Amino acid sequence: MQVPLLDLKAQYRQIKVEVRARLDEICESQMFILGPEVARMEEALAGYCRAPHAVGVSSGSDALIIALMAAGIGPGHRVLTTPYTFFATAGAIARVGALPVFVDIEADTYNLDPAELAATLEGMTPAERATVKAVIPVHLYGQCAEMDPIIATCRQYNLTIIEDAAQAIGAEYKGRRAGSMGDFGCFSFFPSKNLGAFGDGGLVTCLSQEMDRQLRLLRMHGMEPKYYHHAIGGNFRLDALQAAIVAVKLPYLDGWSTARQKNAALYRKLFQEAGLAQRIGLPVEKQSRHIYNQFVIRVPQKRDALREYLATQQIGSEVYYPMSLHQQTCFAYLGYKTGDFPVSEQAAAQTLALPVYPELRPEQLAYVVEKIGEFVKKG
Ligand SMILES: *Cc1c(COP(=O)(O)O)cnc(C)c1O
Repeated sequence: MQVPLLDLKAQYRQIKVEVRARLDEICESQMFILGPEVARMEEALAGYCRAPHAVGVSSGSDALIIALMAAGIGPGHRVLTTPYTFFATAGAIARVGALPVFVDIEADTYNLDPAELAATLEGMTPAERATVKAVIPVHLYGQCAEMDPIIATCRQYNLTIIEDAAQAIGAEYKGRRAGSMGDFGCFSFFPSKNLGAFGDGGLVTCLSQEMDRQLRLLRMHGMEPKYYHHAIGGNFRLDALQAAIVAVKLPYLDGWSTARQKNAALYRKLFQEAGLAQRIGLPVEKQSRHIYNQFVIRVPQKRDALREYLATQQIGSEVYYPMSLHQQTCFAYLGYKTGDFPVSEQAAAQTLALPVYPELRPEQLAYVVEKIGEFVKKG
């Protein structure tokens, strides 16, 4: 049996007719840049995320960069975030000229630890603390970070909150949607995200009208009107084809997220029935709506050998992420060393993402658990 990590062809079969009709219309119109298609998608996505404003941009990575720019963050500033995330979270901070400052994660959810966040700020000199301008919590794997204490700390120090919700569209924290809790929310339409385009795309949600205006200005080289530039932005535009695909897919998203949750529940049951729940750490569901962009298990021993074994059995898996960001070569200048973020480092050594996409059949999940059981029994 084959169980790929993700099978986008299965999803495409469901929506093919609708998508091709929309793409045809856009090809006939030859209007590819921003325009009504992007505006419609922004309105629909703002509604879905329960955020007052949404601005389509070129990618999730650019969403983070443009949010930081709109918040006025640049050289001389520090931004706090998790070292256990996709590179773009911290890369964006460095790209705008600010310094990433890492804060360790919670061992059970892999999200920013609110106690560590407060401790990091308390441990700074007043001069350092004055340079801290923002916090980027990441809602990793589709589950929201523990936002209430994070928001409380940010209020105390007057810090901008930029949610990295690239993996968490529709995820909820105490009934609040990812991207609606901070000053900004950053989303990605990279094909492997729960709401994927046919290429790159992204979105920034924001609370204020003023920031909405600023994001729209920066997305077009700070230009208003044409050829008069108020700020140095960039080309962060989303194209109409990608926006149309996202808009066609949006009505399906809740059904797909429910199917992912069902798969996660079935995995849990199967791991327990197989007596594996003591040997393999299962994802901890702490927040009110986890949308399972990834189903990530913790393998205390021989994680890489398990991954190789699964590959020989035609089962796809992936390590998100094998190296904590404070240990990356490109961040050596930040001066961190191994041991600085032990929870993140241990996660990098032990986590393994299993297939959880909506179209999986129960037999496929049973096969995955069976093969993991075989590996564990062999010792
Ligand atoms: C995917 C992702 C991004 C970047 O999104 P792109 O659209 O690929 O640029 C940023 N942060 C996290 C946590 C992601 O998973």
